[in-house]
Amino acid sequence: MSEKEKLIENLVSKSGKSIDDINKLVADKVNELSGLVSEEGAIYIVANDIGVKLDAERPKKEADLVKIEDVTEPKVPTSLNCKVIRKYDKVTFQSKSGSEGSVQSILVGDETGVTRIVFWNEKTEVLDNIQEGDILAITNAYSRENNSQRIEIHFGQYSEIVVNPQGVEITLPEYTPRDIEFTESKVNALEEGAKNIKINGIVSSYDIPRFYVGCPECFKKVQQDDGKQMCGQHGEVQANRIPIVNLIVGDETGTIAVVGFRDRAEQLSGVSTEEVLGFTEDIDKYRDFCKRIVGAKVELGGNVTTNNMTGDMQVMANQIINLELKTVEEIAKDEIAEESKKAEATDDEDLDIDIEEIDFDDDML
Ligand SMILES: [Zn+2]
Repeated sequence: MSEKEKLIENLVSKSGKSIDDINKLVADKVNELSGLVSEEGAIYIVANDIGVKLDAERPKKEADLVKIEDVTEPKVPTSLNCKVIRKYDKVTFQSKSGSEGSVQSILVGDETGVTRIVFWNEKTEVLDNIQEGDILAITNAYSRENNSQRIEIHFGQYSEIVVNPQGVEITLPEYTPRDIEFTESKVNALEEGAKNIKINGIVSSYDIPRFYVGCPECFKKVQQDDGKQMCGQHGEVQANRIPIVNLIVGDETGTIAVVGFRDRAEQLSGVSTEEVLGFTEDIDKYRDFCKRIVGAKVELGGNVTTNNMTGDMQVMANQIINLELKTVEEIAKDEIAEESKKAEATDDEDLDIDIEEIDFDDDML
């Protein structure tokens, strides 16, 4: 008997409804939430709607403590120590019968990887006291396969959690994804409007970075008003220079412009924001840096948008998964190869783009 069949049977016996009625309620719920939940998830919501508490099997012993990379199979009791990378908003469903269901998830990581942990209904309250950066010791959760065939972890009826336990430290690797829902794509297969795509390629050019003056809270551009820097949302602020970098990234199928703002500008450059801003003032530093980044391998996630100025497609980077700046040795090798050819002088491009024309997407900030 499958997990789904067990749950349905459990629900039929506890609700006193017929199996046909239950199947219909579940199908309606799947439709109503249009792909947001799996059938199993829908069964739990229906149970909640009709006031039935489904039994989860009480674990006979505490689940083994595992690392995230080892959570590869569904339906395995799982205990893990992890760090909260991202806390997503709670999603609330109003069912036709008027009762409410909710689901909320967090993205967590350890030294070996990242995964999502999902909390249903009253379990979402656990997240009220949890913030990004907290360390969690979770016992007796269980793994499940979601609609995208990804393994995630569910915080169930017998799961327990300790927030910031003493003596547990977790250091996340430098390029830990902040989102896991990326779909890998070749450059020539990118389509306008595509969200959360991932590309893997080589940096073929790196423009002189630009910056705008933005609010330190929300990173939107500030307006000058009577010598004051005003944010539409936050009033008078001490504005910062927010860097923007533009790269061309190519794979074996083609090239695409990639844009990164703020911390994404820093990550897309592999150096600090101060250094990125320094390139705007010192052309020699910029040229030296280009030797390290042009030719570097990069893997990044983002959304495909249209550049307002050129009408061309571009990727707005929202996650730099990996960037391997070239080493001194690699640069030296390149220079020797370069000398054997006659280097062609190239004119600097006109980089004076009006910041007003940059298409801000709130997701990017
Ligand atoms: Zn602001």
